[in-house]
Amino acid sequence: MCTIEPSYVTVGGQGFGIRKMAVTSGNRRGFLRGDFRAKKSSVRPPWAVEEAVFVMYCSRCNACVEHCPEHIIEPGSGGFPQINFHKGECSFCGKCRDACPDKALSLPSTTPWNLQPVIADTCLAKRQVTCFSCVEQCEQEAIRMSPVLRGVAQPEIITDKCSCCGACVAPCPVSAIDLRIPKFASSQAVSVTASA
Ligand code: SF4
Ligand code: SF4
Ligand code: SF4
Repeated sequence: MCTIEPSYVTVGGQGFGIRKMAVTSGNRRGFLRGDFRAKKSSVRPPWAVEEAVFVMYCSRCNACVEHCPEHIIEPGSGGFPQINFHKGECSFCGKCRDACPDKALSLPSTTPWNLQPVIADTCLAKRQVTCFSCVEQCEQEAIRMSPVLRGVAQPEIITDKCSCCGACVAPCPVSAIDLRIPKFASSQAVSVTASA
């Protein structure tokens, strides 16, 4: 679910006509360099269109906030909705998308999110303290503990398996896991459409 198409991003939503534009050259260079470091930015609800379009479409009505059964959507900076995985995980129920009257959550893709799970150096295992909390919470089995000779096993995320549900975030006792927008991407809404 966290696949990335490097050449184009979706900048329109259903009913508004779908347009694509090339990612910025800097972002492209980052991708070609294999720069997968994540940047810290607000994660919009799933199926959000590209960020610049999202802030134009979204009327900040809070419909998505009110309809999320997991209560993980909250008003963020400027009143625009953002996801808080510290409150819970996304079940991809689609209720936020269905409730949105403004086509702000209309990414025409089966891939609701382009996020990258990141484990910070504050992870207990990285500090030689045994911990399996994230592994135990991941139903996708996308986190495995890699054994280390004469050391504590280290968590490793298998990105191909990760659905970006965020279930691993809240249980981490030191808040070491985060889901971020990849640094080279202009937003979480990266199209999976092949370039022309
Ligand atoms: S898909 Fe469902 S659980 Fe996920 S943010 Fe939207 S309403 Fe909440
Ligand atoms: S739950 Fe947090 S501290 Fe524990 S292994 Fe996972 S990332 Fe590290
Ligand atoms: S976000 Fe975390 S819990 Fe969810 S699939 Fe990915 S690694 Fe597993």
